[in-house]
Amino acid sequence: MQFRKKPVVVEATQWFKNGDHPLDDCFRPFEDTGEVPVSSREGKIVRYFRHPNVSGAKKCDQCGQIMHFHGWIDTLEGGHIVCCGDWIITGIVGEMYPCKPAIFEATYDRVKVDEINANTEEELLEQVSKLISLMEYLPLMKEKEEKEEKEEKEEKEEKEEKEEKEGVIKMIDGINEEKENTIAEWYQKAKECRSTDELKIFLDTVLSYGLHDYSSITDAFIAGLLATMKAMDCHENGGITGFQAGWIVMNFVTRELLIDGPWRMQKYHDMLYPQYSNKFEKTISKDTWDWLQKEASKNLETAGGHPDVIAHWQSIVDGTIPFGWGLDKE
Ligand SMILES: [Zn+2]
Repeated sequence: MQFRKKPVVVEATQWFKNGDHPLDDCFRPFEDTGEVPVSSREGKIVRYFRHPNVSGAKKCDQCGQIMHFHGWIDTLEGGHIVCCGDWIITGIVGEMYPCKPAIFEATYDRVKVDEINANTEEELLEQVSKLISLMEYLPLMKEKEEKEEKEEKEEKEEKEEKEEKEGVIKMIDGINEEKENTIAEWYQKAKECRSTDELKIFLDTVLSYGLHDYSSITDAFIAGLLATMKAMDCHENGGITGFQAGWIVMNFVTRELLIDGPWRMQKYHDMLYPQYSNKFEKTISKDTWDWLQKEASKNLETAGGHPDVIAHWQSIVDGTIPFGWGLDKE
């Protein structure tokens, strides 16, 4: 009698390196601690090649690669070496064993997914439902892949944009720091101006600074004014006192801001010292009081206004210093 071997369908996967087998599950939690590994573990199906008597540097008789690049699989007949490129076959009862690529090619044909091979109605139904689920699954897979690809691209673009922004901010910080240093230098150099010739060079320097903005140009003006005072003070007609310098500053402000009448500056730093209490008394000089009364009287004659304002002017003319202030002591 003759017999023909029944065709069997097996699952198979070609193995090249650790983790290639779909059931290797290289990120399964450790059995003892239950912790999830941070890097890939040894494959569950194809394990690392280990042999007490065979060095990992030894070359394989079968494939010529060093043993380090091999795997090891437990089969029904005991353990077996897996070479790079070997197929791992899962047999009809779930047993696994390696097969050399040449033998595999000669023995097996790829089962096509669209091949319907049914003997009974149930088998046909099963095959058709498998095909339908596959057809439903494929577009979903494609959609998922596209979505992941898109997300990866967006993430990359976002990262690049962020890096570019950070670069610009860093550059601006650098410029700002340089600018701050330059301005600090102006104030230092302003104090060192010793002649009108030096002053001219100084003014040209601060005015022609290449990175001027809304704020730095005002620093240039102030440094220029300080340098002017220094240079003028060094002239043969200069040599002013601290009091004169204060008077110059006060009058500069009066002229620049067109302040009408007396005014005063208050340095709150003086509040730190008890001996300066007199600077914070709410009093005005006799001259200031005279000026105020004259102004109020003039306003009453020539200017109209809100009744409260008129009454205020009248009370000044009548002799009341506003806001509870008094006259300087003699
Ligand atoms: Zn080998």
